[in-house]
Amino acid sequence: MSARWIVESLHETEGFTTSYRADKVLYEENTGQQQLVIFDNPIFGRMMALDGVTQVAEKDEFVYHEMMTHVPVLAHGNVKKLLIIGGGDGGILREATRHKSIEKITMVEIDPAVTDFSKKHLSMVSAGAFDDPRLDLVFADGTVFVAESKESYDVIIVDSTDPIGPGVVLFEEAFYRNARARLAPGGVIVTQNGVPFLQSTELTGTIEKFRRLFSVATCYLATIPTYVGGPMAMGWGTDDASLIDVPVETLRTRFAAAGFDTRYYTPEVHKAAFALPRYVLKCLPA
Ligand code: SAM
Repeated sequence: MSARWIVESLHETEGFTTSYRADKVLYEENTGQQQLVIFDNPIFGRMMALDGVTQVAEKDEFVYHEMMTHVPVLAHGNVKKLLIIGGGDGGILREATRHKSIEKITMVEIDPAVTDFSKKHLSMVSAGAFDDPRLDLVFADGTVFVAESKESYDVIIVDSTDPIGPGVVLFEEAFYRNARARLAPGGVIVTQNGVPFLQSTELTGTIEKFRRLFSVATCYLATIPTYVGGPMAMGWGTDDASLIDVPVETLRTRFAAAGFDTRYYTPEVHKAAFALPRYVLKCLPA
């Protein structure tokens, strides 16, 4: 029997697809909110796709999860409360729980099936983090949570799908405005903003809105092999301009004090990630 290939259709209308050989399909269903498939690929390991879009791959997820988490947490330097919007696979949660100084982690995921099947079939990604006693796991739409919550957070990490299906609302100004209201003074929000070479409007759209809401609005970059098309952009919104200028020596001290090892993140990579190539700078509204 010939192998099955899972096609990533994110850029199909623009004339570009990626396909992964699925040596084993562990799970596949419509969750009622999204089409979910989990399968094994010989190069990238266990993978999950939602609505035809790659969400996480066992072999390269560390790049994205480390950079989405450690850059804001170590730039801030004194995070007590952290909010994750989305993040159903548990990778951001894993990296957040490595910071012993964080006292409370709230994770708001819209689709319980993603978390349930990630715990079952992608346990290497969450690595037990769902059992962390600091976790408050809420199944809800992130836009509703930030609109109704009265809590404040030092860091908000929006690990969302692309603006497809339930993820569309997480790229709207109302969500960003309410998320800003959940930030404690000196807090920062980071957002998954796609691959600028192929998804420039996703980044431009977010930064345009951030510019109306925050005194500092920019992005930083990291390259994740299964997020095809070059470096991925991570949106950055805060009113504390000093967070970007934290000296590398200070980041080294904070990283050493955090006391864990990484596979991608370093204080030097952190600083370099904010140096944007011209084609990405052009995606940022003037
Ligand atoms: N890192 C991946 C990426 O860059 O594409 C995202 C991974 S994570 C699995 C995305 C999560 O966002 C999914 O579990 C999805 O259910 C969740 N999500 C989508 N829309 C949401 C919403 N409105 N509120 C909360 N979670 C949402």
